[in-house]
Amino acid sequence: MKKNLAIYGQVRTGFVGRSTYLRENFDTMSDTDRPNIEIKSAGCKGQGVFATRALPRGCHIYTLSGRRMTLLQIVVGIVASKIRNDDPLQIGRFLYLDLDAISNKFNHSCDPNCAIMRDSDLVTRRDIMAGEELTFDYSLTVRPSFYSWMWHMSCQCGSVRCRKRIGDISSVPHNQVEESASDGLLQNYMIEHLSKTKKSHG
Ligand SMILES: [Zn+2]
Repeated sequence: MKKNLAIYGQVRTGFVGRSTYLRENFDTMSDTDRPNIEIKSAGCKGQGVFATRALPRGCHIYTLSGRRMTLLQIVVGIVASKIRNDDPLQIGRFLYLDLDAISNKFNHSCDPNCAIMRDSDLVTRRDIMAGEELTFDYSLTVRPSFYSWMWHMSCQCGSVRCRKRIGDISSVPHNQVEESASDGLLQNYMIEHLSKTKKSHG
């Protein structure tokens, strides 16, 4: 894992502190430009969220929301079976969102068409056709830790990039992390984490 983290750290020098196209586009987009979405069946995955019209790359879709909880609160909730292990979205080293009913409908893909920026803003990472399911890579939102080391999900997203097993960000091939990083398509806390990893590895 240390070797992988060192690789991720190298990514950081290219994007931290730099305004990318996607970030600038996102910042200037008004609410009225933002797209409609719908929740419907996504086959064996259960429900999913779909685009109701074609969307350009760099478009804000939705801000995932939920109750802000600490890691300890999340672990207690999971042990008490009040929170599903796979549902919370990490937004800080020890901070999570226990996603609400709509926010947790966005499914994972190992080759996603969306990404999470800032804390929980979902944006398109490529042009999307009307009717496409909107997905993001869960692994890119999970910081490596003792807790993440114990967490994983199986994946059958069907993409040629499918990793079969969804783990933390260290389970994502470093060229794919680099791809997201170079477009600024990572959460702020993850950018900060990669930055610190880079420093700790000189
Ligand atoms: Zn997959």
